[in-house]
Amino acid sequence: MAQPTIQIDCLIFGGGVAGLFTLNKCTELGYQALLLESNALGHGQTIDSQGIIHGGLKYEITKGGHESAVAIREMPTLWRRSLAGESSPNLSDVHLRADNCYVWKTKSLTSRLGFLGAKMALRVKPEVLDDEERPDWLKSEGFTVARLAEQVIEPRSLLEVLSKKLEDKLLLTAPGGVEVSKEDECWKVSLLNPQTGEPLNIIAKDVVLTAGSGNETLRNQFGLTAQATQSRPLHMVLVRGNLPTINGHCIDGAKTRVTITTTTDYAGRTVWQVGGQLAEDGVNMEPNQLICHASKELHATVPSIDLSQAEFLTYRSTRAEQFTKGKRPQDVSIDSVDGVHTCFPTKLAFAPRLAEAIAARIRPDSVLSESKTSEFTWPRPMVALPQWETDAIWNTPEELCT
Ligand SMILES: Cc1cc2nc3c(=O)[nH]c(=O)nc-3n(C[C@H](O)[C@H](O)[C@H](O)COP(=O)(O)OP(=O)(O)OC[C@H]3O[C@@H](n4cnc5c(N)ncnc54)[C@H](O)[C@@H]3O)c2cc1C
Repeated sequence: MAQPTIQIDCLIFGGGVAGLFTLNKCTELGYQALLLESNALGHGQTIDSQGIIHGGLKYEITKGGHESAVAIREMPTLWRRSLAGESSPNLSDVHLRADNCYVWKTKSLTSRLGFLGAKMALRVKPEVLDDEERPDWLKSEGFTVARLAEQVIEPRSLLEVLSKKLEDKLLLTAPGGVEVSKEDECWKVSLLNPQTGEPLNIIAKDVVLTAGSGNETLRNQFGLTAQATQSRPLHMVLVRGNLPTINGHCIDGAKTRVTITTTTDYAGRTVWQVGGQLAEDGVNMEPNQLICHASKELHATVPSIDLSQAEFLTYRSTRAEQFTKGKRPQDVSIDSVDGVHTCFPTKLAFAPRLAEAIAARIRPDSVLSESKTSEFTWPRPMVALPQWETDAIWNTPEELCT
């Protein structure tokens, strides 16, 4: 008996923020598109991310970040409209961690913040705050504080909202993956139903790889050369306890010394995610060593907070990007060969920009587009679990550090 086969315009591999935005865009344009996910949606980077919708200031402060700041400066306005439900995709149900961020440093930053905003024509300019406008945790003497209209979203909530909207187009693939072959001008991808073992063939002219660190292996399956991707690791810190809500960056010279974002866990506890230079330096540290280092760094950057009772945990994550010899890429990247588009958003904030650019490369076929993609049942992928919800042992610095 012939295996069931469906023909579509575009098949997407990987359901992180990039794949979901791309699927949404293709669907809006009327293309027949499906997305394959081999694990849980957002597993890898999106669920690990801090959810800041960057507008460029962080890049401008960092040496060599000028071009990144130009490309990213439109993103906060774009997202703000989506998050308010005023433009597509409607993200008004996404949980917002904060409507803006803070940037803080010692006195010398006052003029620099204003100068950078003007020079870059940043859409989101830092607004230096008087003493009485500052949050309590930033009232320390000698700190210059600015507010930045960069929103912070809950990445898990974003994944949930997008996947709910696109549910009938998301397919979970079985361990062992898929088989790829070429049929006429199209790609044929054969997979097995992870619950029933039944086979399915999907035929598509365009294939989009938005699988993050999975892109490298997928490229091999599609017969493409390696060395198109790079990994830049991070070792992040989580802090849990009686903490204030902090979302922002402490800048030190040309570095973001710490970036802190705040969420709430299943038990209602406040959790900080701490990244920035701390997470870059932490790559070569063992978890306990990083916890002791983080405790000192937080004492220096948010000195008003008593962290003696707070619990710490670390997690490792990896930024998967286009190969740029280990340097941070400046923009989104799409490498298209023979209908296979290898894509990296570079930043979560860039996902709408990437989706727009990918959709422009899809070649929809009016005949193929008539096939129905919702006429079969298939297991759907779950959304990935954030690191602070996993079963792990948290420690206080007092227990670990002398
Ligand atoms: C710790 C950390 C903090 C960050 N903070 C921010 C921030 O605050 N703001 C910001 O703008 N950016 C941030 N980023 C960057 C941002 O998270 C990434 O650029 C973005 O999430 C990448 O999304 P993606 O969809 O390309 O990849 P991913 O989120 O990694 O998704 C890839 C998906 O593909 C799936 N997959 C893998 N292999 C296969 C396969 N063979 N078949 C099918 N599916 C597959 C995975 O399971 C996963 O669901 C951060 C990154 C990290 C690591």
